[in-house]
Amino acid sequence: MDVGIKKLSENRMLSYRKAEIADLAEVIALNHFDGKPICPESIADDQGITYSYNHYKDCFDGMLEHHSGAFHIYINLSRLKERDTARARYTFAHELGHYFIDEHRNSLKNGRTPSHPSFNGLVAKNPVEREADFFASCLLMPSKVFRKQCFSRPLDARLIDDLAKYFQTSVSSVIFRYFELNLFPMMIVMSKNGLIEWKMVSEDFKYKYLPAKGAPVPKTSAVGEYFATGKQYTDQQPMFPDDWFKDFNIEHNEQIREKCYYLSNTTVLSVVWKHEKRMR
Ligand SMILES: [Zn+2]
Repeated sequence: MDVGIKKLSENRMLSYRKAEIADLAEVIALNHFDGKPICPESIADDQGITYSYNHYKDCFDGMLEHHSGAFHIYINLSRLKERDTARARYTFAHELGHYFIDEHRNSLKNGRTPSHPSFNGLVAKNPVEREADFFASCLLMPSKVFRKQCFSRPLDARLIDDLAKYFQTSVSSVIFRYFELNLFPMMIVMSKNGLIEWKMVSEDFKYKYLPAKGAPVPKTSAVGEYFATGKQYTDQQPMFPDDWFKDFNIEHNEQIREKCYYLSNTTVLSVVWKHEKRMR
């Protein structure tokens, strides 16, 4: 999976700006959607944007360049390996964001920025990069289609995998898109070397007494087990809310689920949600 997790929990984009970018990307995506994964190349073709996939050392993942009215996108295979990977698709969509978002394109045209070299997954990103990332996520996973794919399916690891296959995006970008669209209350926790780096929590998440940033991961959680013993789970784990939370109003029959994504030896992304018994 894509290890390029962005630190979305900090420096949030203003909501009106987000809504503008989401609307822009959604219109373009739905114009190109034909039941198959969105193809960033065909969107570029329609706009007369040329592109090349090549080896450009370690200089960037993708770049949008402007020369006297013409735009060109470079995708760096030295870093992204192959052209049809989730990361290469995401990078291409990100560069399209620099083209379609008026302020980005205009600053390039006016020479205020020489070009837009972009890197996937850096922790500290400037607002321009965050906007292009958000555009990419909305373009590759249009909300209307995403919601339809989730319809009447509970949140679980299989749904996340199915969405990643359907949209040909990374599992991590699916998780953030799911969170962004607020489809089911959840918590996303990034931990490193046994400590909590950051977390994102849905507003209507039932539990309120959450482990703090910088605190050790709870010992009895699946991620806690990983850092204590190295044990990795391929599937989501059933557990009790007090494995993670210190809330007082937990009922004895409540359960939660935790799915761990082991991004590296030292970094784990946990997705945690309350288990709901299915209605019949
Ligand atoms: Zn960029």
